[in-house]
Amino acid sequence: MRRISVFGATGSIGQNTLDLIARDPDRYDVVALTGGQNIDQLARDAIRFRADVAVTADPALLPALRDRLAGSGVEAAAGEPALIEAAQRPADWVMSAIVGAAGLRPGIEAVRQGATLALANKESLVCAGPILTAEAAAHGARILPVDSEHSAVFQALIGEDLAAVERVIITASGGAFRDWSLEDMARATVAQASAHPNWAMGQRITIDSASMFNKALEVIEAHEFFGLTPDQIEVLVHPESLVHALVGFQDGALMAHVGPPDMRHAIGFALNHPNRHPLPVERLDLAKIGQLTFRAPDEARYPALRLAREVMETGGYAGAAFNAAKEAALDAFIAEKIGFMDMSGVVEDTLAQISPDLGLQNAPMCLDRVAEIDTQARRIAAALAQKN
Ligand code: NAD
Ligand code: MG
Repeated sequence: MRRISVFGATGSIGQNTLDLIARDPDRYDVVALTGGQNIDQLARDAIRFRADVAVTADPALLPALRDRLAGSGVEAAAGEPALIEAAQRPADWVMSAIVGAAGLRPGIEAVRQGATLALANKESLVCAGPILTAEAAAHGARILPVDSEHSAVFQALIGEDLAAVERVIITASGGAFRDWSLEDMARATVAQASAHPNWAMGQRITIDSASMFNKALEVIEAHEFFGLTPDQIEVLVHPESLVHALVGFQDGALMAHVGPPDMRHAIGFALNHPNRHPLPVERLDLAKIGQLTFRAPDEARYPALRLAREVMETGGYAGAAFNAAKEAALDAFIAEKIGFMDMSGVVEDTLAQISPDLGLQNAPMCLDRVAEIDTQARRIAAALAQKN
């Protein structure tokens, strides 16, 4: 039996992970499941999967969670310390699917106890890639990418020599507004930005797809995970979301990963690694699909892509500042304090204000400084959003 924990179990990735676990329950022993506000779902799943512990991020919800778990034998816990304690419990495989920088600490704890970390939480690599990968190496833990593009790259690299890689191309659907004018994008509502044309995902990543902040995070994620230089990573708009990434080798070959837009593929690949097992995803009928289309992204529509390059050039704590400013700008957009196209301005201005005292060249990085930079960037971004 493999001991597994799912952080962010009540979210979109978490539920897809549990869907796969439920198909083969005898293979798994569930240690911890965690969630946020949706304690009904959390309690139901914790009982169904006979978890040792269920943790809600919100301490105010502990009594209600306890109530729902009464008599089930599942322990109830709440708050960040409880999330960290749950991540310290021995497990063989841990899904990191909390949204945002809040996913970093549990992921660090999981690799510190040697677990294989299935990483959906791209923010961990953006904020503290060098720390997370060094901790994993020091404790013999494996990190497997769950982001569809990075899983695709990982799969295209199996059996290949990294030194022979010339470039990596990650695709982007273009999100909800790919065919909108800039004027219409400036007036876009939260509801419009929350509807993805191809993927069913959490609200935050869906809005980040429309602004391409999600792709910006993914470019940095690829830089950190595969050790690629910024100019080796390209973004290509591919509205069908069937080709997830391509790896270009020095002999000119391009290896593409093609599959339906269903996260259970990337999750299942990480769950079964190093083997492949049957997965309940649609088999593509390419003759029926007929054609695939590609185009270059327009950086005027997506300033996030330019900012991602600047962040990679700066290095160090710039990723933590970028992600935190992005999260605060997204909060402000969701709260209808700023417009859709104002988010990138808030992030850019935050980076400009914060960069003189980032202490970027202070390698090696440490987690406390990541947290400080995160707090500072959120404060600056929230103030800028207020002024907007
Ligand atoms: P979601 O919003 O559906 O779920 C987020 C989960 O995190 C929930 O369980 C929620 O309770 C929990 N959570 C939220 N805030 C928290 C906090 N402060 N502390 C602890 N837990 C908290 O999000 P999602 O779409 O499942 O995305 C999860 C992660 O996976 C994100 O990093 C996202 O970028 C990444 N990802 C998602 C997809 C996708 O298809 N949904 C694809 C690739 C990568
Ligand atoms: Mg992705």
